[in-house]
Amino acid sequence: MSTLKVSDLRVSVAGHEILRGVDLEVASGEVHALMGPNGSGKSTLSHALMGHPDYEVTGGSVTIDGEEILGRPTWQRAVKGLFLSMQYPIEVPGVRLEDLVAAARRARGDDPNGSLGDRIAAEARRLDVRDEFLERGVNVEFSGGEKKRLETLQLAVLDPKFAILDEIDSGLDVDALRDVSRRVEAMTAERGLGVLAITHYARLLTELHPDRVHVFLGGRVVASGGPEIADRLEETGYEGFATEQEADRPSVASAGTDDPFADPLA
Ligand code: ADP
Ligand code: MG
Repeated sequence: MSTLKVSDLRVSVAGHEILRGVDLEVASGEVHALMGPNGSGKSTLSHALMGHPDYEVTGGSVTIDGEEILGRPTWQRAVKGLFLSMQYPIEVPGVRLEDLVAAARRARGDDPNGSLGDRIAAEARRLDVRDEFLERGVNVEFSGGEKKRLETLQLAVLDPKFAILDEIDSGLDVDALRDVSRRVEAMTAERGLGVLAITHYARLLTELHPDRVHVFLGGRVVASGGPEIADRLEETGYEGFATEQEADRPSVASAGTDDPFADPLA
């Protein structure tokens, strides 16, 4: 049983504060959905958690089982059990998936012996990824949906403690969304994977059933609850939560600003 804990995380990008005190706690086997509109800072959160150098952490902490991971290089965070499926997966020409996964597993101290190829082939069948895709450079000339299937395949083979899925639903048709969600859910049930699923569509939550739903606005979590929060969101939109926040926090509904990075609540 492991815990990923984010406390009062503050992050700036290019000198602008984007994350304004994020609190989250995900335990093994749990699925947490983080829902927020475009530009609210969801990808900033995913990049900051994984240690992207453009994202400057100005406060707070992120721990796995009590151990601080902020300040550590990305590879060490991965070794500690964190995995990020990027919103826009990058292409890696000349590196096949098997080479990538084998290197990651070696860095973790596993011995990726001959069985890795079999494991990848089995996952590829499960996720409906054709063999020819495995022979190309990772993600090279893949469609958006194919990239997301391949990200899920990497997740399954790497078997981390926690997966951050940044809009894994974008670019997926209904069938692919179901395949990917089934695979992720099986990992939570069978291997105790903890999931932070970032999305701005409630559609994902009809396939990937969350234990907790967090509404994310202006760089912070403004409401948390069970799946009923997603239903409320369907009715009121993010607007409804923004209005509620204004009422709760008169201090943020302050003077106008021409700062394009400003809190949309302000
Ligand atoms: P979301 O994923 O919720 O759509 P992002 O985290 O991508 O939101 O972006 C939040 C804000 O931070 C946006 O205003 C965006 O322009 C800004 N931002 C994110 N990453 C960068 C970056 N690398 N350089 C400059 N601005 C960035
Ligand atoms: Mg994003």
